[in-house]
Amino acid sequence: MSEDYRPYLRPNALPTVWCPGCGNGIIVKALIEAIHEVGWRKEDVVIVGGIGCSGRTAFILDFDSIHTLHGRALAFATGIKMVNPRLKVIVVMGDGDASAIGGNHFIHACRRNIDLKAIVFNNAIYGQTGGQAAPTTPTGKRSSTSLFGSIEPSFDLAGLAIGAGAGFVARSTSYDFTELKSLIKRSFEHKGFSLVEAMTACPTYFGRLNDMREPYDMLMYLRDTTEPVCAGIDEAIRESHRRLPTGLFKEETRDEYTEVYEDLRKRIAAGVPA
Ligand code: SF4
Repeated sequence: MSEDYRPYLRPNALPTVWCPGCGNGIIVKALIEAIHEVGWRKEDVVIVGGIGCSGRTAFILDFDSIHTLHGRALAFATGIKMVNPRLKVIVVMGDGDASAIGGNHFIHACRRNIDLKAIVFNNAIYGQTGGQAAPTTPTGKRSSTSLFGSIEPSFDLAGLAIGAGAGFVARSTSYDFTELKSLIKRSFEHKGFSLVEAMTACPTYFGRLNDMREPYDMLMYLRDTTEPVCAGIDEAIRESHRRLPTGLFKEETRDEYTEVYEDLRKRIAAGVPA
């Protein structure tokens, strides 16, 4: 696309409240370009945001949008999609939204395979509320509530989505803009529930608490702790380096929920036994 993003942004929401060096702007740029390149009309797109730093996306993007309750973005999005399945419903959540307070909504949206486009901004910490440990904080990493390093294993959100039945599951980082944009775009072309987990930089809390003084250091951290699945690296080596795989993990088409529901509605209206 041309570099004029103004048609997609609300001028009165700018500049963003995000900290200098935050990776969220990179994800939003990838999102805008993906929408533009798949050719979706603005009036067909709805943005549903959760709570936290990532939730500000719903304010910034100039689409019909809704800023919802913590962890409930997928519940609101499900309602919107059920009322009007023609809409393209994009759900932007933080890792807390998707894996903690909204974990139940997350697994059931995957299970139903409802055609929502979930993009999870995973900064591995609760950024907006002061850097507390999240279910996604890697073991040993410090947060404001685990100053000696988290003793818990971290959640594999993509793995959870695959297990729960999501049709499209991918992961990338705000370090690799090209891969991230291409995966978001591909998820938009998939019919069914899709997850793109975007590992992102929170220099203010995660970086500062984990000896990464500059935003650049956090970008290098994302580069060095991830590994594209297409690189062909042996799983055992990846595990020993504690690297998270990135790329497309699953793309499988199965019955989509709003279509199954519409079919049921028509059969009932016609008096055909289920
Ligand atoms: Fe970004 Fe972290 Fe600042 Fe939130 S607290 S805006 S995630 S850098």
